[in-house]
Amino acid sequence: MRLVLMGPPGAGKGTQAIGLAARLAIPHISTGDIFRANVTEGTPLGIEAKRYMDAGEYVPDGVTNAMVRDRLAQDDCKPGFLLDGYPRTLEQVGELDSMLSAGGVAIDRAVELTVDVDEVVTRLVKRAQEQGRADDTEDVIRRRLEVYAEQTAPLTALYAERNLLVQVDGMGAVEDVTARLLEVLGA
Ligand code: AMP
Repeated sequence: MRLVLMGPPGAGKGTQAIGLAARLAIPHISTGDIFRANVTEGTPLGIEAKRYMDAGEYVPDGVTNAMVRDRLAQDDCKPGFLLDGYPRTLEQVGELDSMLSAGGVAIDRAVELTVDVDEVVTRLVKRAQEQGRADDTEDVIRRRLEVYAEQTAPLTALYAERNLLVQVDGMGAVEDVTARLLEVLGA
């Protein structure tokens, strides 16, 4: 199964993606995690990405697309994968389409986790306190939500037109959301 998981910052995407990928036995590919690992290691990619991440902006498409292309070319992605946090722009959708069509495959489902915005802000502030993420200050949180609304929310309409979109209520206990996800995916 080739899946895309979408949802605003703080929707619980990362947590759900880990559980879902394990359950479906496919790799979990989080562009945010890959960027953070590069930031920690101080690689050139990490140094470039950090400037954008700290400001709540998206890392440029060229950088992000090249990184995903390399990751999807690895053998473990052959049976399927769960993309968490990618694609996030229309250009990324186009790039993903061409990466996959080159191998004769396509996305099977795009899952959107829906949440209440006030709840999202509460979750992000809590996460900032627990994990000390530099991109979780209140101003940056607001900017990340704006960027999501402007650049990423429109992607759901595109996947809906392709009849690939499923929306899942992301509110409530983690295990309840997981159960909803597994149900809509028929897993
Ligand atoms: P996340 O952990 O998915 O919330 O991602 C954290 C940050 O990494 C985002 O706010 C962006 O700065 C960057 N990032 C992650 N995925 C992407 C993407 N697909 N396109 C551009 N920037 C991204």
